[in-house]
Amino acid sequence: MLKTPDKVLPGTKLASIEEFEGGQGTYTRDDYVRALFLGRAQYDMKARKVTIQPVKTRSMIPSQGDSVTGTVEVAHSSMLSLRILSINGKDSAAGFTGLLFLDIQRGRGRRPIIGKYSDLVRATVVSTRNGIIQLALEGKDDGVLSAVCSSCGSKVSRHGTRIKCSFCGLLEERGLSPDFEA
Ligand SMILES: [Zn+2]
Repeated sequence: MLKTPDKVLPGTKLASIEEFEGGQGTYTRDDYVRALFLGRAQYDMKARKVTIQPVKTRSMIPSQGDSVTGTVEVAHSSMLSLRILSINGKDSAAGFTGLLFLDIQRGRGRRPIIGKYSDLVRATVVSTRNGIIQLALEGKDDGVLSAVCSSCGSKVSRHGTRIKCSFCGLLEERGLSPDFEA
């Protein structure tokens, strides 16, 4: 009996056409059902049908140690929710959400690092357990990359460790990246 292989390459023989019918992601040649693209072969023993489930490439799913950028969609006092826009420098349109818990950031005892709604933040993936993409400011270049004044939406400039609004003069705390750009 055929076992389920881990991953199969395009063209891999999956079964003879007498044994299994080819479903999604397969084609038939020389009396064999073969894989059409890279994926995981799934054998339905009842229906005698084999299909290929596509494998997403590793670079497109955030995994531990990856550097991501994202915009802050929800800012709570203890947590930021980021919509991930890039993974290791590559654009990601998949719309992953990452969570950045502020109370476990480095610099405990200091004021939690603050990002606000719409800020662009760079962070490091520290865990993907239970499907939750957990982020932290672990990399030396992690932090807020760009922001606008949270009061009036105007352009800001770096002012020491804070940002200052060019219009209303508001000074705000942010966990700024060394790469912060106004
Ligand atoms: Zn302002």
